[in-house]
Parts: sequence; structure tokens; C-alpha cells
Amino acid sequence: MTLPARANGTVFTARQDRVRDALQLAGIDAVLLSVGADLPYLTGYEAMPLERLTMLVLPRDGEAVLVVPELEAARVPDHGACTIVPWSETADPIGIVTGLARGVTRLAIGDHTWTRFTLALQSALPHAVFSPANSITGPLRAVKDADEIAALRAAAHAVDAVAVEMRSRPFGGRTEADVSRELVDRMLEHGHQRANFAIVGSGPNGASPHHDATDRVIRGGDVIVCDFGATMHGYCSDTTRMFAVGEPSNEIADTYAALADAQELAVHAATVGTPCEEVDAVARRALAPHGLADAFIHRIGHGIGLEAHEDPYIVAGNSNALVAGHAFSVEPGVYFPGRFGMRLEDIVVATDAGPDRLNCSPRDLAVVG
Ligand code: ZN
Ligand code: ZN
Ligand code: ZN
Repeated sequence: MTLPARANGTVFTARQDRVRDALQLAGIDAVLLSVGADLPYLTGYEAMPLERLTMLVLPRDGEAVLVVPELEAARVPDHGACTIVPWSETADPIGIVTGLARGVTRLAIGDHTWTRFTLALQSALPHAVFSPANSITGPLRAVKDADEIAALRAAAHAVDAVAVEMRSRPFGGRTEADVSRELVDRMLEHGHQRANFAIVGSGPNGASPHHDATDRVIRGGDVIVCDFGATMHGYCSDTTRMFAVGEPSNEIADTYAALADAQELAVHAATVGTPCEEVDAVARRALAPHGLADAFIHRIGHGIGLEAHEDPYIVAGNSNALVAGHAFSVEPGVYFPGRFGMRLEDIVVATDAGPDRLNCSPRDLAVVG
């Protein structure tokens, strides 16, 4: 992961202190972090997904220690936010971690940690109780600071540029896979470091929200869901725009208008203090009079940051209130199996001045050739 130059050790030590405060409140002694986004959030270092263990031991009362394979140690940023303990090829990293966690009884462990390591730690620390680290780190990571919002905005503008370019591109006669490859290429051209996904669901395939692009040839009369996202400076983009090959039918146009209205209302409802589930409910209430409530088969959104999907989840049952700095998608969709599907997605940040929509490419149904 390439992090921007602004990310210095002070940012990470401040985040580690907030984790310690949360550990104190939760009555947990230490957090153990391996692969996944919690580690770069707290150290600026992203672990390789390897059979060699990388693990940050962050105690509530003590210094952060990063246990890392010797051959990876040169990749760890040297900004003093943690002590680095490299282990050589034949050493026992589980033994090193359990030594650092000696006397600890309650541990939070990163949700993405490989099971082989979790099981080894559990048998080496038979009296320790393990819990998921996300309950500590999720709420902290959900609230973005100004630099993180700037990174999300830069990533959003890059996918907006791609969405605009696609409006003057031909779709008819091309396969979904071909259009998907073009989305990936353009996301990289616009400065993303890696593409994460490029869903192209044409005609009936659009009724499957996470459709994998296939060799289906796009033809006149199709509507096409393009949902694409990538990572820039460590932070994710994610947007969905809709395309129609030729003038859409009245049914398509009316359905899209209802969806776009529902999305607009939900974005405006995403104010500080509003329960997450209410943003979802606003869109459902808007779709209901059009007979579209049953076609909206997923939650309206997910948080976004270092990961494409993270807290807060904007879904019925999440009564937590939005706070300033929450960044999340607002993406209602309607799906008609065997016929077509539609979705419209923007990333929104809740701010004290109201919802700040990071994506600004046109939201109409783009008519393409
Ligand atoms: Zn999705
Ligand atoms: Zn998306
Ligand atoms: Zn999304």
C-alpha cells in the first residue's frame, strides 16, 4: 500500500492511543493485528498475505510491537510508531507473539487474521479469551479525518472522470468483459493504484447486483449497470452509473426516474444524528408508491475507507446515528430477474454542514451507442 507523504508517525501514534482508550472501555488487554486494513490504519504498513506471520501487538498499557518476517522488514515505514521485531526464517513467530502477550487474558484479534495463526495463538495461550478486533477498530476507522476525506474525494473524482468518459463510448456490440476491462484501464489511468472491481451487468444480467462481467454481447435496448471502484493513496472509490443503448422505453425511463429520486432523497437524509437505518428507510419509502419496494433487495450502503466495505453499514437494524466524518455509499437498486436491474451509487460524507456527496458525475441514465 502506498500511503500519502502526510501520513507520518504522529498520525499513527494518535490512532494507537484511541485504540488503547477503546481497549480500556471494553476491558481488553491487547489487540493483535495481522493482514487486513487495521494494521495500515495504525502503522502505515500493510502486511503481505503470507504463510509467514506478521502481527502487531498493541497492548492497552505498553508500546506497540510489530512482529514481522525479516525479509519484509525493509518495507515497514520507519516513522517510530511501533517497535519492529523481525523474525528470521527459522524462528517461531507464534512464540514471539505469545511472549509479548504473556500475562494477558483478554485479546482482540484482527478479523482478517488467517485461521492457522489464530488457532496456533489460541492453543499457545489457552487461558486467553479472544474477541474480534473490529468491535474496537471499526467505530474508530469509520470516522474519517480531513486527510482521509481528501483521499476519498480524490478517489471519487477519479472514478467520476471515468464515468464521464464512458458516456461517449460505444457499448452496443461489445461484451460486458470488454467494457469491464476498459473501466479497469481507465481507473488506473486516472491515478488509482489498483482496481478493485468493475461490474458490468447488461440487460437481464443487471438483475444480479454483483454480476461478474461475461461474454454476453451488449445490444440495443439494454440498460447496463456499471459499478466500479479502485484504490488511490490507500483509500477506495466506488460508484455506480447507468447506461442505456438507444433511447430507453417508458418503463425503463420511469423506473430510473423513481430510483434516482429515491437516491437523491436518501443522500439528503444522511445528516449528522440521523440513524443509519433511516437513510435506508427513506429510499424504501420513496420507491414504495412506484411498486418498487420489493425490487430493492439489498441494504442502501456501506462505509468506505481503507476497505471498500467497512463500518458504518447503512441498513435496517443499525440504529447508530451518523456522526461527522462517517463516509459511506448511498446506492439503492431495483432488480427484475430475467429482465434488467438498475442501481445508482455515490459516496457521501456526513458533515456538520450537511451531507457532502463526493461523487459528482452526471446521474441521469446515459444514452449510449
Ligand atoms: Zn455492491
Ligand atoms: Zn459500488
Ligand atoms: Zn458500494
